[in-house]
Amino acid sequence: MIQRFPVPDILKEVSTVFHTAGFSVYLVGGAVRDFLLQKEASDWDIATDARPADVMKLFRRTIPTGIEHGTVTIIYKKKHIECTTFRTEADYSDGRHPTAVAYTASIEEDLSRRDFTMNAIAISLPDGAVIDPFGGREDIRQKCIKTVGNPIDRFLEDGLRPVRAVRFAAQLSFTIDDSTLQAIPQTLHITQKISIERFREEFTKMLICEVPLPGLRLLESTGLLTLFIPELAECRGVEQGVYHHFDVLDHSFLVCNACPAGVDNLHIRLAGLFHDIGKPAVRKEAADGSCTFYLHEAVSEKLTRTIMRRLKYSNSEIEKTAHLVAQHMFHYEPAWTDAAVRRFIVRVGKENISDLFALRYADVFGLTGSYGEPSFLAEFTARIDAILQADGAYSIKDLAVNGNDLIAAGIPAGRILGLILHDLLETVLDDPAQNTREQLLRIAAALYERIKRFQ
Ligand code: ATP
Ligand code: MG
Repeated sequence: MIQRFPVPDILKEVSTVFHTAGFSVYLVGGAVRDFLLQKEASDWDIATDARPADVMKLFRRTIPTGIEHGTVTIIYKKKHIECTTFRTEADYSDGRHPTAVAYTASIEEDLSRRDFTMNAIAISLPDGAVIDPFGGREDIRQKCIKTVGNPIDRFLEDGLRPVRAVRFAAQLSFTIDDSTLQAIPQTLHITQKISIERFREEFTKMLICEVPLPGLRLLESTGLLTLFIPELAECRGVEQGVYHHFDVLDHSFLVCNACPAGVDNLHIRLAGLFHDIGKPAVRKEAADGSCTFYLHEAVSEKLTRTIMRRLKYSNSEIEKTAHLVAQHMFHYEPAWTDAAVRRFIVRVGKENISDLFALRYADVFGLTGSYGEPSFLAEFTARIDAILQADGAYSIKDLAVNGNDLIAAGIPAGRILGLILHDLLETVLDDPAQNTREQLLRIAAALYERIKRFQ
């Protein structure tokens, strides 16, 4: 078991500043855990007995990022280092968030208020000695998530911790220790009170990790899903007929999991999770046992917006996700004309096509749990690529004329000008060869003449 940590030079230099002023300092939290897991640390957290005001005096560049919790960010050689003064547990009073901060002088006491044993290991700086009072290294070796101390007490102190346990289980491929797991359903009344932003942060970290599926299943089995996204929990047991191997909830979990990982793909993962959430509302079963879900995508889109607004996702994240959900049922036939393919590109938006196809591939996988026969998707992709390469007009912006050109040609600004531009786009979608300035001005003039006659 590792006894000493190879301290990077930058942390040695930072620790010298603390020591010279008579303070102690430790590396803590995720960076220590990630090092033991031989993973790249995403950020550095350090803990010290220096008070925030002292830390701000010791370093030239600091930001009081969480001063009310004793946290100051030190910027040192372009690195951001979160520095938190040793704290005790006294600060959680309502299970929602810390109310007041109680400082302490000992690293052991500070470690004892941390959530899980794997997150309660400190590295003394600059020498790299490991301080591990709760057996965190052994739990990491066993891939086990265990609270520091009694899980029910710890979850009653802060209802976010159960959500973090589930997030870490997915992110690290760890299991949650039995008594910690059993404490989650017993403390839901406290978890229910956490701010929705805190839930969303952990939920998002879980969704974008390589394999979120175990986390999604844990959210359901612990009751957390019913608490935060009851619309999704209601998809359990909604059967889909002979072509589907799974009910709507298992299907949604599988699709979400099969979508691409990473923070830039969050909207695709969310769309994977919510694309069929409208199905329970529109399900119709025939006498032969087959099911239909007509226009479920419209209901799914609406619910996606409702849920994501409740979870306080940004408007742009909501729009991107809702658009994919609304469009996920697209179909294609080889007999389609190029104009039909162009109209599809316009409807979906050039920039969204690869995301929509990623979702659809995942959706196909979620039918049976395998990709099966090559579907129409490959041929459709090739058609779209060929058309995108050959011609370029897919929005009014891409036309060879703009509104000012039409005004200069004698068409007054206003609603009619807008209608004419739309008509020009339709013309170009049918035949891209029409997209020349001369040709479009001629068509526009003819359209305007006709409209004037009807006015
Ligand atoms: P990540 O890699 O996602 O940043 P992390 O473990 O660093 O993982 P943070 O949210 O950055 O997670 O928290 C830093 C440390 O603070 C944790 O490792 C843990 O020791 C402690 N901590 C964070 N949230 C809580 C909490 N709700 N209750 C107790 N301790 C917590
Ligand atoms: Mg961290």
